[in-house]
Amino acid sequence: MQASQRAETNHALEYAIGEANKQGLPVLVFFGLTGGVPGANARHYRFLLEGLCDVRETLRRRGIALIVRRIPPVEGVVAIARHAALVVTDRGYLRYQRQWREAVASRIDCPFIQVESDVIVPVETASPKEEYAAATFRPKIRRLLDAYLVPLQERDVAYPVRDGAALLQGDLPGDAVFSDETKEPLDRQAGEKGCAGEQAYAIEGCDDPLASILVALSVDLSIPPAAGFRGGSREARRRLDNFLRLKLSRYHEDKNDPSLDGLSELSPYLHFGQLSPLEVALKARAVCQAGGGANKEALLRETEAPPAAAAEVAPGLAAFLEELIVRRELAMNFAYYNPGYDRLDSLPAWAQATLHTHQADGREFNYTKAELAEARTHDRFWNAAQKELLLRGKMHGYMRMYWGKKILEWTAEPETAFQIAVELNDTYALDGRDPNGYTGIAWCFGKHDRPWGERAIFGKVRYMNAAGLRRKFDVDAYVRRVENL
Ligand code: FAD
Repeated sequence: MQASQRAETNHALEYAIGEANKQGLPVLVFFGLTGGVPGANARHYRFLLEGLCDVRETLRRRGIALIVRRIPPVEGVVAIARHAALVVTDRGYLRYQRQWREAVASRIDCPFIQVESDVIVPVETASPKEEYAAATFRPKIRRLLDAYLVPLQERDVAYPVRDGAALLQGDLPGDAVFSDETKEPLDRQAGEKGCAGEQAYAIEGCDDPLASILVALSVDLSIPPAAGFRGGSREARRRLDNFLRLKLSRYHEDKNDPSLDGLSELSPYLHFGQLSPLEVALKARAVCQAGGGANKEALLRETEAPPAAAAEVAPGLAAFLEELIVRRELAMNFAYYNPGYDRLDSLPAWAQATLHTHQADGREFNYTKAELAEARTHDRFWNAAQKELLLRGKMHGYMRMYWGKKILEWTAEPETAFQIAVELNDTYALDGRDPNGYTGIAWCFGKHDRPWGERAIFGKVRYMNAAGLRRKFDVDAYVRRVENL
């Protein structure tokens, strides 16, 4: 388990259970915890570890052992595979995720199968090439939705087992992480060392002191936890139900207004695979088809697919599925087919050319990465957006566009601007280090967009300004919201 960190609606897990049942064998889930995930700091690891507490509980109920060890995932899988008839993994689209899977494939002897579970339509099925824009991708993916928007049946585990260590005859790679695994667990090894950020990372409601696990992993503790976000599938579902009940019907009207609380706030959960996009889409569709009637509550808990999509799909649902499926899976398409997804040279030729033509244009403001990170610019709307990212670990989607465009405007070279945007987003956003993040940033620089009227610095890349924010929504109310965080 790496990208799909959940024990429900997980196609890789259900496939593994099916194969194990056929072969008369138990299932063991392994998670290799390494401090070396590119760009990740304690903010991200805390969220991940909270999620693993939920995974552990649910797997236990289902009769599946979970082994979480402090070891690079490839080393851990290679060691455990010596005891396995079959290794099944989930799928990730970023460079390091693909390298990990390729390394495992070259080093184990048993069959190794990758099952995609964090998109609705598998990335290569949706399109065999990098798409130019949402307009070219939308019809391709829409054609396939009836075939892929189907619920995943949970399988019973025929050979339940709880003690993973016994299954491996004690041959466990790396150090234990949670105290119910054998050998000295990390929480005790690290417990006495203490550390500055540790207090901020003490976590309620989990048996193990997660703060000490973070210390033992040597991850950067200087970024404080994201206030208001608790990791895990349980919390993800609570948020989903809340969104479907209270916000979905107005989503198309509210989504571009950062002064309101109109979004689902699900991106951190989708990023860590703590929530399945399939589950989200099916539940959203079910609620809409119930038409907000008396049985809406019951439908929220339904996993059965409702009848084929009604002709008069509610505008809120249509707008939400456009983001959740078309935009999100366009981002997977970009990360998968474009190896430079986190650099300026991933942009279409016209965008690179126009930005370079205008590179020498004078900049009225020119900020360093540190000034931007600390929200010290002349623009209080931009500063509010950056503060929201610093404090909450998430910025409103509409402000994200303005935020990225201004980094381009206030930095001497477009390459550096792209790099700063990636670094700030990856460091502070709980949902950062994700295809959506790289695609969102690339969009600010012209990706998946068309050329517009030429102007200074931006050339033909679409421009945004503060007057536009004022025209569209009450931006002062947004600033006040952030000040009250
Ligand atoms: P909702 O509006 O409730 O949408 C539901 C889901 O749909 C989201 O969770 C997300 O998975 C998907 N979605 C929504 N908008 C987009 C979009 N424009 N592109 C792709 N998928 C979308 N998204 C991230 O997940 N991680 C990032 O690091 C990230 N960085 C971004 C940086 C910039 C500069 C820009 C312009 C956009 C970025 N986005 C990122 C995309 C988008 O802003 C977020 O997905 C969205 O704001 C997440 O909040 P939500 O879950 O409340 O969204």
